[in-house]
Amino acid sequence: MKISKIFKNKIAFTILIILFSIFLINFIVYIIPDEKIDGIEYYSNSVKYYDRNGVLLRYAPSETGEWKLFLPYDKIPKKLISSIIQAEDKRFYWHFGFDLISIARSLAQNIKEKKIVSGSSTLTMQLARILYPHKAGIPGKIYEILRATQIEIKKSKKWILEKYINNVPFGYNSAGFPAASYCYYDKSINELSEEEIAVLCIIPRAPTKYNPFKNREVVFNAVKRLLLNSDGKIDERKLYAAIDGVKERTTKFDSPHFINLLQNELKTKFNRDVYKKTVEIKTTIDNRLQKSAENIVESLVDKYKNNRLTNASVIVLDNKSGEILAYIGSKDFFQEDISGQIDGTKIKNQPGSTLKPFLYALALENGFTPATILPDFELNLGGEENYKPKNYNLRTNGPVRFRVALASSLNIPAVYLLNRLGVKNFINHLLSLNFLSIIENKEDYPGIGLALGNSEVKLTELADAYSVFGRDGVFKKSTGFKEIKTIDSGFTKFDPESHIQKKFVKEYRPKTIYDSKTVFIIFDILSDNKSRSLGFGASQFFIDKKVAVKTGTSSQFGNIWAICLSKEFTVAVWGGNFNGNTVRGVPGASLPLEIASKIIDILPIQKNEISPPPELTAIRICSLSGMRPNGLCASLTTEYFDKTISGNIPICTYHKVGKNNDAYVSFPVEFVHWAKSRGLLSAYQENEMENSAPKILFPTDGSVFFYDPGESASKQGLTITVSCKNGGKPLYYSLNNEGLIKLDYPYKKFIQLSKNEYRLRIYDNDKNLAETVNFSVK
Ligand SMILES: [Zn+2]
Repeated sequence: MKISKIFKNKIAFTILIILFSIFLINFIVYIIPDEKIDGIEYYSNSVKYYDRNGVLLRYAPSETGEWKLFLPYDKIPKKLISSIIQAEDKRFYWHFGFDLISIARSLAQNIKEKKIVSGSSTLTMQLARILYPHKAGIPGKIYEILRATQIEIKKSKKWILEKYINNVPFGYNSAGFPAASYCYYDKSINELSEEEIAVLCIIPRAPTKYNPFKNREVVFNAVKRLLLNSDGKIDERKLYAAIDGVKERTTKFDSPHFINLLQNELKTKFNRDVYKKTVEIKTTIDNRLQKSAENIVESLVDKYKNNRLTNASVIVLDNKSGEILAYIGSKDFFQEDISGQIDGTKIKNQPGSTLKPFLYALALENGFTPATILPDFELNLGGEENYKPKNYNLRTNGPVRFRVALASSLNIPAVYLLNRLGVKNFINHLLSLNFLSIIENKEDYPGIGLALGNSEVKLTELADAYSVFGRDGVFKKSTGFKEIKTIDSGFTKFDPESHIQKKFVKEYRPKTIYDSKTVFIIFDILSDNKSRSLGFGASQFFIDKKVAVKTGTSSQFGNIWAICLSKEFTVAVWGGNFNGNTVRGVPGASLPLEIASKIIDILPIQKNEISPPPELTAIRICSLSGMRPNGLCASLTTEYFDKTISGNIPICTYHKVGKNNDAYVSFPVEFVHWAKSRGLLSAYQENEMENSAPKILFPTDGSVFFYDPGESASKQGLTITVSCKNGGKPLYYSLNNEGLIKLDYPYKKFIQLSKNEYRLRIYDNDKNLAETVNFSVK
């Protein structure tokens, strides 16, 4: 009695210990995090990219490189779930990861056949194999069983089914039923017939053996067996139709650089949750325009191949929305000898003259008018050997109106303007237009050469900045996203505030850069064929459409640019070579403009005359002085002025009448030296100027210069330039109240400078103070 009682207690105790151990093991397994099991939730999906009209551009694999399309459990068709359980694991709801009955049966079968004929894996074991790949064989099987048990402890049956259905390999690099449904049948899993579902259920068993493209009969027999086992009914005709209905997955690879760009943005800039769930994207690309633009680029680049020009990139923007309509990274994505896979729109290159419109726009916002006279004669900036800007055609024009200087892309007036406005101000201005590349190279911080594009920018930055002139002065970051569809919503309009990570949202908020007067004047100047002629000769481009044009060429013809701008569209083009080779010969320089003009031709541009805003008024002026004509002025033109200052425009002081009643031109003092060297100085003015006071031409008052740490100290400085007509007698100057130093004719002298504030004083031949300017070196 007693013994048996003790014995019974012992048994009870042992059972209790075993149960407790099982509970403890379960509990421990449950709470220990498992990277693979927990991480499976965070794979992204394959994404279908469409153009703005719904044309499929690419079906891109997920970040794991597989074709995947996550579907949550409650959206998986019930028929699919029951078919999978019927086909793979009939006792799925009753086991804890492994099925003893099935294992015993397959063991017996294996022994009988003396080889491994049956796998006997449950769905959980198959999922374990996906998460923890291992070698076949008995030890692998045991490992699989342990992992399957772990999954069963940690997760629900629903979870296991959901992950199995979404991740089981299907061959052809696709995984999961929802993606396989698109890959094999090009439709959603909800649209599959019973037979088609059955075909998909068979493939994962052995994707090579049950490949419906290659082994039609094997698949047929397996599916037939499965259907007979489930409800006994079978329609052979429908079954054959299901097998014959499979098709090769689309290999479309349109707009390759553009889709790569979107994929990258989706991954790096979007909210993690949106990135993970996105399955379809309607992009902003217009596929027809894109294809036409690709053809234009290909044929024109081929045309210029003797000029050693191998590549071009293009961006077309819709100005109002900022949407990218066409995007070409290289001449041919698949051409290896030109590194076609490189996306040229994102490469930093020297912009040449393409930054000038922003400099002139900044000047307009700071009191300049399109009639302001700018100097176009040789300026010495920052030292004799250091910087001597020259015009593209190596000619100087003396006094030029602001409008003509920009339209003809003259270099010297641009350098003068930058010097007046300050390099730092212009850099800040460019940064507000999102030209972030210009300051990325810390060793080569931009200096005065920035006026001529001695820095680096990307085509994307240029396109975005120019579109500001088509958007009434408002900057808007361009985008390729139009609508986004996630696994739990239909298509919704792309909205940076809800789709983009907080730290990037600011980039997408529009901001006003210019007022409408500035925008109109710059647009008007860049579309002014007449004013363009000084730099380029009369242009043949765009006669019938009012399109603003700006071109640029970096030194040595390494990079050639063209931007064409209508009110509605911005077309930006880069031409050059990814390997840095320079383009041979000037004809090659017209390639980007030719590409841009051909694209402009196919864009649906309305009559594009833009009218001046009401704050501006058109006034007749003297075309030499930019002032109101006085009756002697030889040639007149019309210019736009702000109504508030139009009353203050002086009467022309250039055109005068002499003693003998003959008309002559009287140049302002700073142009006298230039006029004389060109033989344009009249005898009257020679006399008039005989005793004129000295005038400092350079540096101008309030200028700021930047010390260049990369340059030797002896070259850091500037050339004082003074104009005076006193028969060549010497003048004097002093720097920061130090003693007077002699300044001989022609009154130019290089002075070495370091970082400091400076006061320069000029004295006439009798040592009387004539003029003072202040400037600083930072
Ligand atoms: Zn005049």
